[in-house]
Amino acid sequence: MNDSINVDPAELEKFASLAHHWWDMDSEFKPLHMINPLRLAWINDLASIRDKTVLDVGCGGGILADAMGCNGAAVTGIDLAAKSLRVAQLHALEAGTPNVQYREVAAEALAVEQPSSFDIVTCMEMLEHVPDPASVVRACAQLVKPGGWVFFSTINRNAKAFGLAILGAEYLLNMLPHGTHEYAKFIKPSEMAGFCRQAGLVLEQTKGLEHNPLTGRYWLSNDCSVNYMLATRRPV
Ligand code: SAH
Repeated sequence: MNDSINVDPAELEKFASLAHHWWDMDSEFKPLHMINPLRLAWINDLASIRDKTVLDVGCGGGILADAMGCNGAAVTGIDLAAKSLRVAQLHALEAGTPNVQYREVAAEALAVEQPSSFDIVTCMEMLEHVPDPASVVRACAQLVKPGGWVFFSTINRNAKAFGLAILGAEYLLNMLPHGTHEYAKFIKPSEMAGFCRQAGLVLEQTKGLEHNPLTGRYWLSNDCSVNYMLATRRPV
């Protein structure tokens, strides 16, 4: 798919309209702040980010990109919501985060401009917001260096995920605004595995990301029935 059309403007607007909340720990972005140490540690354990070049695709306000910069990686964050990128940049300036820069560019376009140039690519909580996720997976595979790691996270598509990620989070608990997620865009692990295989990425590990809404606790597990992450590698 052409990069100019692999974007849903309504999705971008949804995030842009909340951009001033990205670094508000009590906002709709709280879940991303809560899972951030978990995903950062998981990525770092597998790919050891210090002194690596990292591309964060769909970086939003820079929650993960900023943390990776603080942990010694040289990070480029990309997104198509300009407002979110400005917030990410401002946060880096205010916090004095070293080695993080942001750019408004589609993954597919950057893959043409700078193929095989990052040690690590991360693309978290973004694929379920784009019309053609396989195209983004392909771009990530082109952007990473041979031998490099590509990490994805998204939401599974089944009755439990509908119940927890949409009914629970958006309607019962009001953790997320109504309409944050669209059930049909959720992606099964088997579909993600197919996108990765077609893009030439080798699946190394999958991890579930679980949440207990009563205690507010988040943890990693092997249960991928709702939120989950994939670690993949481009062969040398
Ligand atoms: N990856 C970040 C933010 C996730 S929110 C994190 O996990 O903390 C989803 C992000 O995807 C938003 O910032 C939104 O603007 C971005 N997005 C949606 N469609 C996109 C597209 N086609 N290209 C790039 N970014 C996109």
